Amino acid sequence: MDLGRFTESQRAGGASNADHAVQGTSNDAAVSRESAARLGYIADPFIRHFVKPAQRRAPLINRGTFCRFHGVQNTLCQFIQALGATTQASGQIVVLGAGFDTSFFILEKEGLSAGKYFEIDFAEITAKKAATIYRHPDLKSLLPSDTQVAMGGSELHSSRYSLLSGDLRQFQSHVVPKLIERGFDPNEPTLFLSECVLIYLDPEHSDHIIDWITLSVPNAAILTYEQIRPDDRFGQMMIDNLRARQLELRGLHAYPTLESTSQRFLSRGWHSSTAVDLAAYHDRCIDESERKRLAKLEFLDEWEEFTLLAQHYAFTFAYSRDTDLFQMLCPLK
Ligand code: SAH
Repeated sequence: MDLGRFTESQRAGGASNADHAVQGTSNDAAVSRESAARLGYIADPFIRHFVKPAQRRAPLINRGTFCRFHGVQNTLCQFIQALGATTQASGQIVVLGAGFDTSFFILEKEGLSAGKYFEIDFAEITAKKAATIYRHPDLKSLLPSDTQVAMGGSELHSSRYSLLSGDLRQFQSHVVPKLIERGFDPNEPTLFLSECVLIYLDPEHSDHIIDWITLSVPNAAILTYEQIRPDDRFGQMMIDNLRARQLELRGLHAYPTLESTSQRFLSRGWHSSTAVDLAAYHDRCIDESERKRLAKLEFLDEWEEFTLLAQHYAFTFAYSRDTDLFQMLCPLK
């Protein structure tokens, strides 16, 4: 089957320019990740398959990518380990706007897997991802043995891993039915992950997703990683730079601060919600030995610039119920 054909036919079907621009950010994320992986910041042996041509990012960007990767891997690993330690449940992970994120493969390689793992993105992106996975034996061999290609090459279905196509702006009408059809169980403890995704949606759409989770998944946790602080000079520059590429951070003004991103969940009755910016995460969560290791990889003398940049990105980690499982998770401390 020609897994590449779907992409072109979809494009002919006409997503908007703004949608194409947002889809392109999956490449930006992958290029940064590949740069950090190649230089030894992070251990991701798979990301190179998704990046052509590779580009070396500046040291401060590599340092930021390291922190982002660290926070996400920390959360995924803590969730999977806590599942093993506290419950009979197998658990689920749902990655919203997964792009070319390789976490599923990294975890599989480490022998760390939740019961089910779902990734969602536009069909243009999932088709490219599926085709790349099938082209590279080191990725393909980590797929569960019952994996099937579906939807003209834009989806992968299996008992444990599903790569699903869909528009998050039609979450309840289109994405949720696909999740359910592929075995998503709202009663399982579920970790949702959203790295630089919800911020591109109108707040009414992203709020709708969070409202659905609040009402439908009793044991939910979420990690988001997004831009904050639009109102200072750096924030304004960040917005202008993205706007020049037709990228609009639609959610930024609705949730502009650490407090507001955290309140977003607390105001809906979630039990716990913590937000830290990347600068604080770097200072608090990266231990001394790791920082020494990073310092040897590349010289970073732009500390002021790094801090400024890192203050404009934030992790928010929230969970809905006070259970033994969720109490074990403290990825931002
Ligand atoms: N989370 C990934 C990718 C980030 S780029 C990572 O960190 O590497 C943002 C991703 O969100 C892109 O792949 C884009 O296609 C996806 N996305 C944005 N809006 C979306 C929508 N409405 N529906 C589905 N996916 C969307």
